[in-house]
Amino acid sequence: MSKKSILIIEDEPHIVMGLKDALEFEGYDVAATGTGKEGVLMAKSDRPDVVLLDLMLPDINGYQVCEELRRFDPFLPIIMLTARSQESDKIRGLDAGADDYVTKPFSVAELTARIRAIVRRASRTPGAPEGFEIGIARVNCTAQTIEREGQEIRLSYYEVELLRLLNERKGQPVARDDILSRVWGLEASPTNRTVDNFIVKLRKKIERSPDKPEHILTVYGFGYKLV
Ligand code: CA
Repeated sequence: MSKKSILIIEDEPHIVMGLKDALEFEGYDVAATGTGKEGVLMAKSDRPDVVLLDLMLPDINGYQVCEELRRFDPFLPIIMLTARSQESDKIRGLDAGADDYVTKPFSVAELTARIRAIVRRASRTPGAPEGFEIGIARVNCTAQTIEREGQEIRLSYYEVELLRLLNERKGQPVARDDILSRVWGLEASPTNRTVDNFIVKLRKKIERSPDKPEHILTVYGFGYKLV
């Protein structure tokens, strides 16, 4: 079995350090950040198996992070870490989409037991794979992969969302601004060039000859169109 990865979103360095040591000792790959916004970006790009999420963060709070994470992955296991122990906070956390909740100070043994349980549950989560075909490539949105000529090519979160949007409007031109607001939303500050760079990468993964695209076409001065 491959190594499971954990993303810690927590701004207290001593807690991060303690958790990182303990979880690495247990055999997990561990990444950490102290801000909610970076946590969201890291979760989307690294696709961890479990997220440990502090409630009180310096920029956006854990509930907002949790909701944002849920929007892009309904099955991503999230455990909230918090100093609060009130029932209402717990309920709000679970409402925001957390799978579990641990109140500080917690024992590392208890937390790792919960992580193991949640990883076991997640690996059993069914769900029909969602996907569509583009020429010789089959896009699997659930697995975030493209199957092409017997090969499996990995896609990032943004690549899947971009393809999904183009596919929804197949045959119609989609403006770069539309792509930016639908795929990237309010976070970060991508530019039109970001979209163009992603299109270049996607053509390499999908097109027979990326320089002469047959499927992801440029609509000059406007955006892109999937045919
Ligand atoms: Ca905190």
